[in-house]
Amino acid sequence: MDIIEEADSIYKKNFPSETHFERAIFFSWYCSIRDCTFCFMSVQPNAEPKKMRRSTESLLAEAILCRVLGWESGFLSGGINAFSPADMKRLLPLLTTAYGNKFWLNIGPLSPDLLEAYKPFIRGVVGAIETVNPVVHKRICPSKPIEPYLRMFDEAYKIGLANAMTFIVGVGETREDLSQLLEMIERYHISKIHIYSLVPEKGTIYTEKDIPSPEEQAWWIANVRVHFPTLDIQCGIWKDRVQSLPLLLRAGANSFSKFPATRLFGSHIAEDIEKQVENAGRTFKGTLTKLPTMDWAREVNVLAIDESLKERVLRKLTQYVHKMVNARTDCSLQLAGQR
Ligand code: SF4
Repeated sequence: MDIIEEADSIYKKNFPSETHFERAIFFSWYCSIRDCTFCFMSVQPNAEPKKMRRSTESLLAEAILCRVLGWESGFLSGGINAFSPADMKRLLPLLTTAYGNKFWLNIGPLSPDLLEAYKPFIRGVVGAIETVNPVVHKRICPSKPIEPYLRMFDEAYKIGLANAMTFIVGVGETREDLSQLLEMIERYHISKIHIYSLVPEKGTIYTEKDIPSPEEQAWWIANVRVHFPTLDIQCGIWKDRVQSLPLLLRAGANSFSKFPATRLFGSHIAEDIEKQVENAGRTFKGTLTKLPTMDWAREVNVLAIDESLKERVLRKLTQYVHKMVNARTDCSLQLAGQR
């Protein structure tokens, strides 16, 4: 626990006592690689990329929700090659307009040309590194080598973009890998790290695997915090790990992600998250429980997008809001059914 206390004290010296939820916006369920052993995409049937994409209106509606509810964008992501560069160039300005801010982009290694092209709309790039142990990496990401990501980090840094990376606790790493992780953060100017714990996706080789303990995830977060006092650290919780949140925040995480926030909006789990944040002595920015009274049509109408897209976005947004209003009721009914 010493390391947790040290990390907590370093966090408090460098950041205000607050936290927020970060939403990853996924634009497709297609990935041309589909063989990372832990990944949900790896057990999806192969399909036409276009069939696996979300509609533009659905993405814009979600971006508006993020803005209004104070959810920061963890990143914009989809599987590798789900969208062509031309698609991304069309989508990024629209999403930035709806969200009102730039995104982190997590769509695989990008060439210098594409970094330049996307630069006006992105804060930085996220390298899905997942694990720094080369042997484990080869095993869990056989078709996704690290090197192209490292080259992207160098190029991105050169042109003034920020670098972020992902790290999953529980895929086979050992604590001896910590020094490699710290070196990577230092060498590649990583300013943000997402530290998740393994979610055993059904159908993958991890289906029956125990999830890592909260203490294990906290150990990685705390050690990274102690070495990098001002690094932006996001932790993943998922809906079955809400109780770990106070520990992960005390270990020095700035924010949390991996919670199905629209599906469980206002549910008892979302309420519990806000309570856990309070237990950790942090103020929660944004909301997972209270929909503000909004003129949603106005939120859509102010966007500089064409009229027919506005109509479709409003329809989608209304559907989302309706679902979120009903999420609490659905959740209570499910609980009653389980009793
Ligand atoms: S590249 Fe990304 S989306 Fe594709 S299988 Fe690997 S982890 Fe999943």
